[in-house]
Amino acid sequence: MTRIVKKAFKELFPEKDYNYESTIKYSKAFSAYNANVKYTSSKLMFRISHEWKDVSNEIKIGLIQSLLLKIFKEKKKTTQIDLYNIFLKNLHISAPKTNIDPVLKQSFDRVNDKYFAGMMDKTNLIWGEKSFSRLGTYEYGSDTIKISKVLEKDQNLLDYVVYHEMLHKKLKFIHTSTKTRHHTKEFRKKEKGWEDHDVEEKLKDFLRKERKRKLFWF
Ligand SMILES: [Zn+2]
Repeated sequence: MTRIVKKAFKELFPEKDYNYESTIKYSKAFSAYNANVKYTSSKLMFRISHEWKDVSNEIKIGLIQSLLLKIFKEKKKTTQIDLYNIFLKNLHISAPKTNIDPVLKQSFDRVNDKYFAGMMDKTNLIWGEKSFSRLGTYEYGSDTIKISKVLEKDQNLLDYVVYHEMLHKKLKFIHTSTKTRHHTKEFRKKEKGWEDHDVEEKLKDFLRKERKRKLFWF
């Protein structure tokens, strides 16, 4: 099982010695295709979501190498890492769309009609915690847009944040040997295409008021 870790390591760092005991545990606790690694000076312990069981070894090696680069704080590129990134970018195609909140669906449809000519594919849409700092996320593995509950009360701002996450779904990311970029120039340009140019200010105002409300319970 862990021969794959050694292989991933040696192909990534041919110059380094491999003196590790390694484990891979498949977990159902993760959301789709997530993974992490813990390590000591002699151990590498990978935990990866159970969906990875059926993925080809080359792509799995790309995942392991991506995690190894994080641990060793290095920047490199391999064919397998490229494959892994292509794989991530295409996961949405096969991800089941079974988790769609009706209110968020309405928002998605409004934005889809207005900004994407109705061409955006169905995606999972769920509410997250009432967070003031994380208003929205898009997760590639499960093809899920998650929106902070704090936006429930303001339809325009909700639509704007949904738009932002839909742009992530559409534009994906650019991967180079040094970094992964999500908010590219193209992204920012498209984001500015939102009809209301004061929307960022309005969003800040809204969050300020909501924070106060939360403090004073009114
Ligand atoms: Zn973003």
